[in-house]
Amino acid sequence: MTSREPSEKELSAETDRLFEHGLSDLGYTDQDLERCARLTWKINSLKKSQQAVIPAHVYQRAEIIHGVADFIGDSYKLSKLCSETKARKIVFCGVRFMAETAKILNPEKEVLLPALEAGCSLSESITAADVRQVKAKHPGAPVVTYINTSADVKAESDVIVTSANAPQIMKKLYAKHDKIVFLPDEMMGANLAKALDKKLGKELITWKGRCIVHDNFDASSVALYRKMYPGVKILAHSECSPGLVSVVDMIGGTGDMMKFVEKSKAPSYMLVTECGLGDLARTKFPGKVFVPMCRLCPYMKATGLEQILRVMEKPSPTHRIELPADIIAKARKPIERMFELSEDTVKL
Ligand code: SF4
Repeated sequence: MTSREPSEKELSAETDRLFEHGLSDLGYTDQDLERCARLTWKINSLKKSQQAVIPAHVYQRAEIIHGVADFIGDSYKLSKLCSETKARKIVFCGVRFMAETAKILNPEKEVLLPALEAGCSLSESITAADVRQVKAKHPGAPVVTYINTSADVKAESDVIVTSANAPQIMKKLYAKHDKIVFLPDEMMGANLAKALDKKLGKELITWKGRCIVHDNFDASSVALYRKMYPGVKILAHSECSPGLVSVVDMIGGTGDMMKFVEKSKAPSYMLVTECGLGDLARTKFPGKVFVPMCRLCPYMKATGLEQILRVMEKPSPTHRIELPADIIAKARKPIERMFELSEDTVKL
């Protein structure tokens, strides 16, 4: 199903809409805006006719976030909203494990991943067979798995967590268990062990997975930035190394970082994470100053408007997320456990 071209009037209105979202402040030229507007107009038209919804992770390109996304958020928020959507089709703008999570929560819906290269180094660091081996080595220890994992790995896990809810959920589990296996992020595991005062390797067992984006930030440059920008608040994602985490002002997930910026009155902020969050913060808080210290995730940036339009006009089987029914049933349980434990966290 191909979409028609917008009229001059429609194109001009769409270009103005993108401009109003602050894309020019992020460096988009008039030509960029017009090129994007032609695509966003077509995608938004198809969305209506196909009863489709587009969730987008906050690391996605700004033209996706402001041009076509129906909701944006971190992994937790997206999985929660995907479980509530009434749309018939989900065009997931993020990476493969997120689209798989959407499929697990919406098995009856068509879930499309626009860019096949949208993987994740953390997700690819571990297989279901690896999890079974770790479980055999640590019998009785609950397996807490970061949401950045494949459906097969989730299916072998007891509870799924995100960077935002991992500390609270782990704290609850430690009330009943002496040892927990945390997979697959080695850095986040080390940060959790420190925050929860647990012995790494004994009370908290980790895997060797790393995020290629957050693993690369340099703790030694933090002191220099503090001198250059007096009063700067430095916020780091919990996938960063313990060395970096020990010298910043706040550690957490992307949602926590945005909430911190919203409430704080600091003269400037440095968001140590993927560059998409800084772009989003600049458009959301235009009066605040952001010091650049970010890296691009090649997986997150693999999705463009062209790929979204292509997958909506001519979906191919390779872009359609298909999972065996038994994996969906098994993987759903630890995700629902996360929802339950997170809700409890809020109520307490
Ligand atoms: S930023 Fe890191 S964790 Fe997120 S998708 Fe990219 S590689 Fe994976």
